Amino acid sequence: MLFESIKMNTKYWEYPKNNLAVQIYNLSKIYNDEKQNFALENISLEIPAGSIFGLLGPNGAGKSTLINIISGVVLKTSGAVSIWGYDIDKKRKQSKLAIGVVPQELNIDAFFTPKEMLNLHSGMFSVPKSSWISDELLKLMDLTEKASTYSRKLSGGMRRRLLVAKAMVHSPPIIILDEPTAGVDVELRQKLWESFIKLNKEGVTIILTTHYLEEAEHLCDHIAIINKGKIIANEKKESLLTKFNEKIIKIKINKSDISEKDKLSLESIGKVKFSKTDIEINYKPDHVNMRSIIETLYKTKLDIKDLSTKEISLEDIFINLTRTN
Ligand code: ADP
Ligand code: MG
Repeated sequence: MLFESIKMNTKYWEYPKNNLAVQIYNLSKIYNDEKQNFALENISLEIPAGSIFGLLGPNGAGKSTLINIISGVVLKTSGAVSIWGYDIDKKRKQSKLAIGVVPQELNIDAFFTPKEMLNLHSGMFSVPKSSWISDELLKLMDLTEKASTYSRKLSGGMRRRLLVAKAMVHSPPIIILDEPTAGVDVELRQKLWESFIKLNKEGVTIILTTHYLEEAEHLCDHIAIINKGKIIANEKKESLLTKFNEKIIKIKINKSDISEKDKLSLESIGKVKFSKTDIEINYKPDHVNMRSIIETLYKTKLDIKDLSTKEISLEDIFINLTRTN
């Protein structure tokens, strides 16, 4: 654990009594009073201490707004937020110290080495020199070999890991990452995931935003989905994935007139969407097997031109969720 392996004031960051890293109650945010558009509307959310919590949502959903309020960069309009048990209005300093923020931009000063940068930053955070953990953080982020290389020579992935280390110099129990792997290629992304998992194993609560379902699936143990400023799902990963255990069959037919009887047959497979000569059926592979689907289709009078299946995408999930909510 970080709390033991790297010199840390264990008493200060003991787990909060309710074991919640972040507690959000009826939070709203309106950026522009004139328009009265909610960037966040009455959000309540609990983020368990020790978790890797994913905030998933499409562009403009309100993810950055939410984590910027949590990290104290954006002011809320109403509601209450506690970080590690500290109310952000009443205990501003403590609540801020409980968080390390990794910015989205790779803003690294090219003329410092990673080690110098971490030392400098520790000083800026008034961490006493005897408690500097630069070497430990470089090791944790797999950057020991680059400790004395000019930062401008680091690859994109290394820079990102250095920013994570930088956010950790004051040993906060929570780290926040906004779209940490946006625009990062697949290989680097996996390396970053490994670093996050390592950090989490040290006891650090990780909160990240992403619009990659795959990322949330791989990394997070809790996932909240946010859409148009509202939380539309908030569950442990396993229960969320079971919910979304769906696939889609796409059928093209030659004639658009379908008999009522055939419609009913299709609806026995799953949720059906008709549009002219295209039919889409969302079905649960756990409940309906392919053989019975083929048999059902065979018995219809549909003049089938083409048929394909695809995995449900995050977009499909959003469409489904917003339709039923
Ligand atoms: P996400 O991070 O999920 O893409 P954001 O939190 O950035 O979403 O944005 C949520 C909504 O708030 C969007 O409609 C966006 O246009 C608006 N918004 C974000 N930041 C500002 C700002 N500084 N001023 C005005 N509107 C903003
Ligand atoms: Mg964002």
